[in-house]
Amino acid sequence: MEQLILTKNVEEVMLLDVLKIRKDFPILSRMVNDKPLIYFDNGATTQKPKQVIDAIVKYYTVQNANIHRGVHRMSQDVTNEYENARITVQKHIGAKYEHEIIFTSGTTDSINFIATAFGKKYVNAGDEIVVSEMEHHSNILPWQQLCEEKNAVLKVIPMTDSGELRMDEYKKLLSAKTKLIAITHVSNTLGTVNSVKEMIAIAHSKNIPVLVDGAQSIPHIKVDVQDLDADFYCFSGHKVYAPTGVGILYGKEEWLKKLPNYQVGGGTIKTVSFNKSEYAESPLRFEAGTPNIEGGIGLAVALDYINALGLEKIAAYEHELLRYATEKLSEIENLRIIGTAKEKASVISFVVEGIHPLDIGVLLDAQGIAVRTGHHCTQPLMAHYQIPGTVRASFSFYNTKEEIDIFSNAIVKSIKRINKK
Ligand code: PMP
Repeated sequence: MEQLILTKNVEEVMLLDVLKIRKDFPILSRMVNDKPLIYFDNGATTQKPKQVIDAIVKYYTVQNANIHRGVHRMSQDVTNEYENARITVQKHIGAKYEHEIIFTSGTTDSINFIATAFGKKYVNAGDEIVVSEMEHHSNILPWQQLCEEKNAVLKVIPMTDSGELRMDEYKKLLSAKTKLIAITHVSNTLGTVNSVKEMIAIAHSKNIPVLVDGAQSIPHIKVDVQDLDADFYCFSGHKVYAPTGVGILYGKEEWLKKLPNYQVGGGTIKTVSFNKSEYAESPLRFEAGTPNIEGGIGLAVALDYINALGLEKIAAYEHELLRYATEKLSEIENLRIIGTAKEKASVISFVVEGIHPLDIGVLLDAQGIAVRTGHHCTQPLMAHYQIPGTVRASFSFYNTKEEIDIFSNAIVKSIKRINKK
């Protein structure tokens, strides 16, 4: 069995000591199909450092207890740790108050939360919700369903062929009927970093609130929700080196105070009687039932981990990986990169003329390279380009240029093999 021999690249080490970092991620040293794993599916989910894995093992080994309602020592300790995790998240995204941070099960859950609670109170027949052409299905379907239920209308911000939102069209879409705008910060398929700060300012000048889908931004760039002035910001733990099944909904205090309940149940109340029940304040009012306790704790450990590396350094290093991969892949005949926006995170999607993306994905897998193929839960975006899907490589700070070299050679090899058949 061959080993992936990685060498220290001086310019990379100046940013991050990637070889040292890779030792924190046990899974990166495993073999796949008898080849050293090259993991380029970070947009789907990221791998976990041993610090996060250790925190989960520790939780179930010596800490496990339910939170918020126990008088016993273990319950109190773990409640403190969970609430400290909330503060870590608050600081990480620059929220003003910790009660603006609500634990959910992930981005999809956070978006459904707002579509349901906001929709119930603020959306009526004839109103409009604005999304963009590049949204993930998780930021389309909850709004589409809401519009169907309320007889409201879903409006779509179109994009250019390079994968940038059309700001002229965006401005034209906003009117007195617009109740909310839901846009992604970073496109999972194209890597485009949208100008959400500018878009929010435009929306606010017309008193329209904005929800930002941050599933793909939080792992790659520094986000400050107060600087953006976002009304709602959603993300998932598993895409930022934390466990699955935990996510965050940030909501501005003024909005959370006005929103009706989403789900109700244990933990959300002050008192319950059969005549009338009284609810707690945010965040407890919005967190029904026993949460993913170890997930919340693991999320804080993951955020501490990336903060210790430094988000600016991560962004600069990943940007260099993207630049390098773009250069390498551009040299491959008949390969077309989908998504060439000026501002991109480390995501590269491509198609090869006459070859189905799935076929390339299967051959790359045989060479130990994990990429994503298909529509990436962005079918309307695929319709824009009139393609069935793409091959998508999404890089993390633990990936290297050597892996990209192997990847681009493997693509060439795969194309040759398919074309020979
Ligand atoms: N939005 C975007 C942009 C995403 O990339 C994803 C995950 N692929 C989601 C939403 C949904 O995230 P989750 O499955 O973690 O809820």
